[in-house]
Amino acid sequence: MENMIFCQSCGMPLGKDEDFGTTVDGTKNKDYCAYCYKDGEFTQDITMEGMIELCVPFMAEARKDMTAEMARKSMREWFPSLKSWKTS
Ligand SMILES: [Zn+2]
Repeated sequence: MENMIFCQSCGMPLGKDEDFGTTVDGTKNKDYCAYCYKDGEFTQDITMEGMIELCVPFMAEARKDMTAEMARKSMREWFPSLKSWKTS
């Protein structure tokens, strides 16, 4: 678990090669997933709050012990520390 890499935009766990986003030259981008980052660009222009709303159903689905409200709350605490949403 400590070696887990998460997408620095949506928080999706990255494991398999195809989970990772790609840079302009087609190599793996280790910071972002294939859904968020493709060919060197972010695939969507979205706010952190928008991304959280997008991810709530997926996280609630993946974590059976978590309600949508709990998923939203934990992402609101976690996402500001991700590279994509860091304000400083
Ligand atoms: Zn992502």
